[in-house]
Amino acid sequence: MQPIIDSHAHIDFPEFDDDRDTLLQQMRSAGIKNVLIPGVSARKWQRQIEVAKQYDSYYALGIHPWYSESTLITDVETLRALLARYKNDARLVAIGECGLDKLHKGNFTTQLKLFKDQIQVAKEFDLPLIMHAVKAHEEILKCLKTENPQRKGVIHGFYGGPQLALQYVNLGYKLGIGGLLLNDNAPKLQQTVAKLPLESFVLETDSPAMAPKFSGNNRNTPLILPEIIKKMANLQNKSAVRISEQVFFNVTQLFDL
Ligand SMILES: [Zn+2]
Repeated sequence: MQPIIDSHAHIDFPEFDDDRDTLLQQMRSAGIKNVLIPGVSARKWQRQIEVAKQYDSYYALGIHPWYSESTLITDVETLRALLARYKNDARLVAIGECGLDKLHKGNFTTQLKLFKDQIQVAKEFDLPLIMHAVKAHEEILKCLKTENPQRKGVIHGFYGGPQLALQYVNLGYKLGIGGLLLNDNAPKLQQTVAKLPLESFVLETDSPAMAPKFSGNNRNTPLILPEIIKKMANLQNKSAVRISEQVFFNVTQLFDL
């Protein structure tokens, strides 16, 4: 079986403080070779870099729209300074997660400004974007078309139907497919995975969030990835091996791993 990479797992979060070593060992024996730890807020970047170094994981630095209210005006400059400092760190592979979320209370204008700033940063440092997009696809697509960042990126935790999916894929973006696919009440997402070319997808879990309902757990972990591959194989009518090979190729290509 091809190694598996979780393109979106917050293993730096305190939810993993008690058993991070054990979990990483379990992952590696299950063929899950590595994770990409996305950034969420300036206050967490340092800890994130430490965890990435300790476990030799990939990471991205950025500001999540949920944290836009607590973001300081200087945070984007701090981001630039950190990126300049770590630009030769092969583990640093993307900007994010950044984006827009209309379900989250807070100032949409601030979210939009931070998103556009981070697209600029991605262009300056020639890195792909990891994006959080909730109920704001129109605005996100508009920003991506206008700014046209050269390294593109991924819409993480994608949950939409094939029509929306194609709009991103036609612009050169990938879709992050995670635990939502395992829930029976996600017919649009299942159609997307069934209909779009396999080149469109990367795997993710968004751990510790997004635990699939069947698991009965509150905390999600990358250990559910083989289940997601199985489900994708069913929907695409291909073997699990074929799915693993292609999504591994996709993630290594997108983030230049
Ligand atoms: Zn996330």
